[in-house]
Amino acid sequence: MTLCADFDALRASAADVRIVTSDGQSIAAHSCVLASASPVLERMIDRARRGWGADCTIRVLGVSFDAVRAFLHFLYSAKVAPEEEELVGAHGAQLLALAHAYRVGWLKRAAEAAVSARLTPERAVDMLKLARLCDARRLYLHCARLAAKDFSAVERSDGWRFARRHDAALQLELLQLLEDADQRKERWARERAAQEACRQLGEAMASLDHIFPSDGPARGDAPCDKAGCTCRGLQLLMRHFATCARKAAPGGCARCKRMLQLFRLHASVCDRPDKACRVPLCSHFKAKAQTEKEDKTWRLLVKKVTRAKVMSSLADRKVVPEVVVMSWTMYNGRVAKLR
Ligand SMILES: [Zn+2]
Ligand SMILES: [Zn+2]
Ligand SMILES: [Zn+2]
Repeated sequence: MTLCADFDALRASAADVRIVTSDGQSIAAHSCVLASASPVLERMIDRARRGWGADCTIRVLGVSFDAVRAFLHFLYSAKVAPEEEELVGAHGAQLLALAHAYRVGWLKRAAEAAVSARLTPERAVDMLKLARLCDARRLYLHCARLAAKDFSAVERSDGWRFARRHDAALQLELLQLLEDADQRKERWARERAAQEACRQLGEAMASLDHIFPSDGPARGDAPCDKAGCTCRGLQLLMRHFATCARKAAPGGCARCKRMLQLFRLHASVCDRPDKACRVPLCSHFKAKAQTEKEDKTWRLLVKKVTRAKVMSSLADRKVVPEVVVMSWTMYNGRVAKLR
């Protein structure tokens, strides 16, 4: 391969293959370069040589002369130099098709990346079709994502209009991709909402620890000195719980039910000895959990809230390990995007 790498020097030596393009023009080339770069071209050269006469002609049709020339240039140099990325971009789709057809893997990847980088909604349908034909998975996914993101622009494109008129299968495939993307988005939103709920519950558990410290008297209604905590809301809820007349009424009171759930959750995550914990109903719920088996959903919730509570308390410390800061930022960052 290195022997044949000098394109110009080789050009000076006797070319033994003629590449003919769609417009009838021909380019002289060297069989050793082509055969070593592409197993498909190697077979074609072999077959042509076994035919009548010494002439070895290969027809590369369906793409422009300039694209074929660029393709040959890359076969000779066996790499895409950084300053040649523009050339790949200029013939991206055609190079992708050629590299796929002639099985030049490294060039196919370079062309796929160049096409993906220059993708616009107007070309998304055409490039999706090409990606499917060339088995270019990354480009295919990129087109699908772009179509889901900006479908109104895709709808105005010639590619989409053509698909609607002549290619029902492609139209169906695109609509399916959009539906999948919608479902993925919904799933993400659900997961994020659940994560946010766990984060809030983790904060509530930390607040219960602030209000009922293990090493001192209960704080009651006194303001909390921990920065950024949510004790106030919980203190108000507890005051309501203490005085609510509808607590035991039929149907109950939604706020009191929530308070009871928080006390139960606290008991599930509480690691203090029974007598040392002053959180209301802690020992009652702990005893209940011993006799009644908690269901799977509750156990999963407890696990998630315990993790959220640990993350919250670690992030409150003055000296925090970097890994915790990063996880906490990621955890909150994702939640923050939802708001
Ligand atoms: Zn607090
Ligand atoms: Zn109530
Ligand atoms: Zn407790």
